[in-house]
Amino acid sequence: MHPFSISRADDPVKASAAHARDGELAFIAGGTDLLGLMKDHAALPQRLLDINGLPGMAGIELRADGSVRIGALARMSDVAAHPQVRVRFPVIAEGLLYAASGQLRNMASMGGNIMQRTRCAYFRDEDSVPCNKRRPGSGCSALNGINRNHAIFGWSGACVATHPSDVAVALAALDAIVIVRGLSGERSIPFTEFHRLPGAEPQRDNVLQRGDLIIAIDVPARREARGSHYLKVRDRQSYEFALVSAAAAVALDGRRVRSARLAMGGVAHKPWRLGAAEIALRGVSLDDGDALKTAIAKSFADAKPLSHNAFKIELAQRVALRALQTAGERA
Ligand SMILES: Cc1cc2nc3c(=O)[nH]c(=O)nc-3n(C[C@H](O)[C@H](O)[C@H](O)COP(=O)(O)OP(=O)(O)OC[C@H]3O[C@@H](n4cnc5c(N)ncnc54)[C@H](O)[C@@H]3O)c2cc1C
Ligand code: SF4
Repeated sequence: MHPFSISRADDPVKASAAHARDGELAFIAGGTDLLGLMKDHAALPQRLLDINGLPGMAGIELRADGSVRIGALARMSDVAAHPQVRVRFPVIAEGLLYAASGQLRNMASMGGNIMQRTRCAYFRDEDSVPCNKRRPGSGCSALNGINRNHAIFGWSGACVATHPSDVAVALAALDAIVIVRGLSGERSIPFTEFHRLPGAEPQRDNVLQRGDLIIAIDVPARREARGSHYLKVRDRQSYEFALVSAAAAVALDGRRVRSARLAMGGVAHKPWRLGAAEIALRGVSLDDGDALKTAIAKSFADAKPLSHNAFKIELAQRVALRALQTAGERA
């Protein structure tokens, strides 16, 4: 194990300043991803700053307008079990409950969850295989290697990895907002802009800079949110990352889609919104399976499979359809 020192933060402003000042310092919350990365030598911070004692960051606050503020230090299990989150935002509760294991969810924080790094096996491999995310400029072993679990949208020649968080897919579908404290104060980042596509810099997963501390995630009230569902397909039934997943949220006029929100996991370097499908779904009857399929297919015209994952194109459309239909039955 890589040696490190650890100290505790008690003030967010000081924590942010320490992170900006010291490039060898990492925040630690539940530690369920960071410690694994350190064991795999994929992250080698010399100093850990334990942020669990920071005040006001662990709450789940339902607001009068129907929105919810989820503190960055709220545990996945607490958010998933919150009665109002379950009723008002079932897609969030389900995205959390299908993730990891009970023990992990008790430790893991919401901020850490959306910051977790890819499960690409080459990235996690201690041996010195080429990986641009781990060692920029070394190449991408997955591009022409084993890439069954990798992206079909938005990848670059530098990296074809997917983002592993489940709840991030639900938060993207609902247009959540990440509240960040940086050196120049607090700012809001739309969830769909928080994670990056790999481009030429796959070592950067998201838009955060040194000194940025996630304070909370705001989920606005959406009329689609109550009729929502998260569907995850994986190689085994529990304790496994998504091969493909979909978050769907729908509002109906009778049986017709008034508005739909759809995002997918396991298909790109970030949660992937199906914008073209959302537009095409307006006015389509939930009972017209062919029309629903045709609308969803609009978002797959630009899918680009790798050598081992062409199956994801069909699978992802089926998962999106099933998630949408289930969400529709709840709306
Ligand atoms: C075996 C296993 C299976 C898993 N399966 C799934 C799964 O199916 N689906 C899924 O979604 N996840 C899964 N996970 C991932 C798990 O959900 C994450 O490890 C967890 O959510 C990370 O939260 P944490 O608080 O432990 O983060 P940490 O490990 O403490 O931190 C992770 C990263 O986030 C940074 N960070 C933490 N908090 C903040 C903050 N407030 N501001 C800025 N940076 C911050 C840290 O510096 C670090 O870089 C699995 C993990 C394991 C080990
Ligand atoms: S897909 Fe990305 S994370 Fe995986 S080997 Fe290639 S560069 Fe590394």
